[in-house]
Amino acid sequence: MARRSRSPPREVRAVLLDMDDTLFDHSLTCREAVDLVRRQTPFLARRSLEELWREYMTLLDGPSFIPSLRALGADALRQQRWHLLAATCGAELSPSEAAELSRTYRRFYQSVRRAVPGAVALVRRLHRSARVGIVTNNELAEQESKLSFLGLGDAVDALVVSEEVGQSKPDREIFEVALRELGVAAEDSVMLGDSWTNDVLGARGAGIRPVWFNRFSLPRPRGPEARELRSLRPLGLAERLLLGEDRPAAAGAARSVLSAPPPSERR
Ligand SMILES: [Mg+2]
Repeated sequence: MARRSRSPPREVRAVLLDMDDTLFDHSLTCREAVDLVRRQTPFLARRSLEELWREYMTLLDGPSFIPSLRALGADALRQQRWHLLAATCGAELSPSEAAELSRTYRRFYQSVRRAVPGAVALVRRLHRSARVGIVTNNELAEQESKLSFLGLGDAVDALVVSEEVGQSKPDREIFEVALRELGVAAEDSVMLGDSWTNDVLGARGAGIRPVWFNRFSLPRPRGPEARELRSLRPLGLAERLLLGEDRPAAAGAARSVLSAPPPSERR
């Protein structure tokens, strides 16, 4: 009986990328900014940086982010976050004290912003052979500011932000908006992101091949198959994994990335 030959892999025509903690180093920027606020605020200094940072990230990632943003506005939402964070340290802040702490944090956050290592060069490289879109949950102005900070405006063909779309990842609608803007079918696309739920499950639900960016070496959740990348460097390996699934070189690349996460990427 004749062997069935495997069909050749489809060409990847669009790469979708998450913004926070995939391209822009949101977590470690937050960590450093929280630390700077903590060092000058005695009641915050009673808790460890690690505890405070985790608490802050939990407050940031609440499921009602977009409805709260629409109801309160960005500034009030940030102040509310600092009010709640102070309460976890046993401090009851007045609205003006919470506003002051929020402004201080914001100033520090802006001053210590950084890209995920390799992100800027990887996007430029991907853009030579595919359309590039960013699909991200957050405020539009905030994500536009991050794109501008990264200096990638000319290498990104679509910036699709949940505040503007009215739906957040993992809802399939936000991925479909991105595909429409890029003019590319789901099966010709790949999505790279750090959130298993938002990026991997979300992309899979929209028919897009996901690649999980597991930068902090988290345990792999149960669920659908997805290739995994632990560092954006070396760029050639990351590029082949994203653009060349099923090709022998790409399979080797994935294994080598998996087996050698650089120490700087762990926490
Ligand atoms: Mg993310």
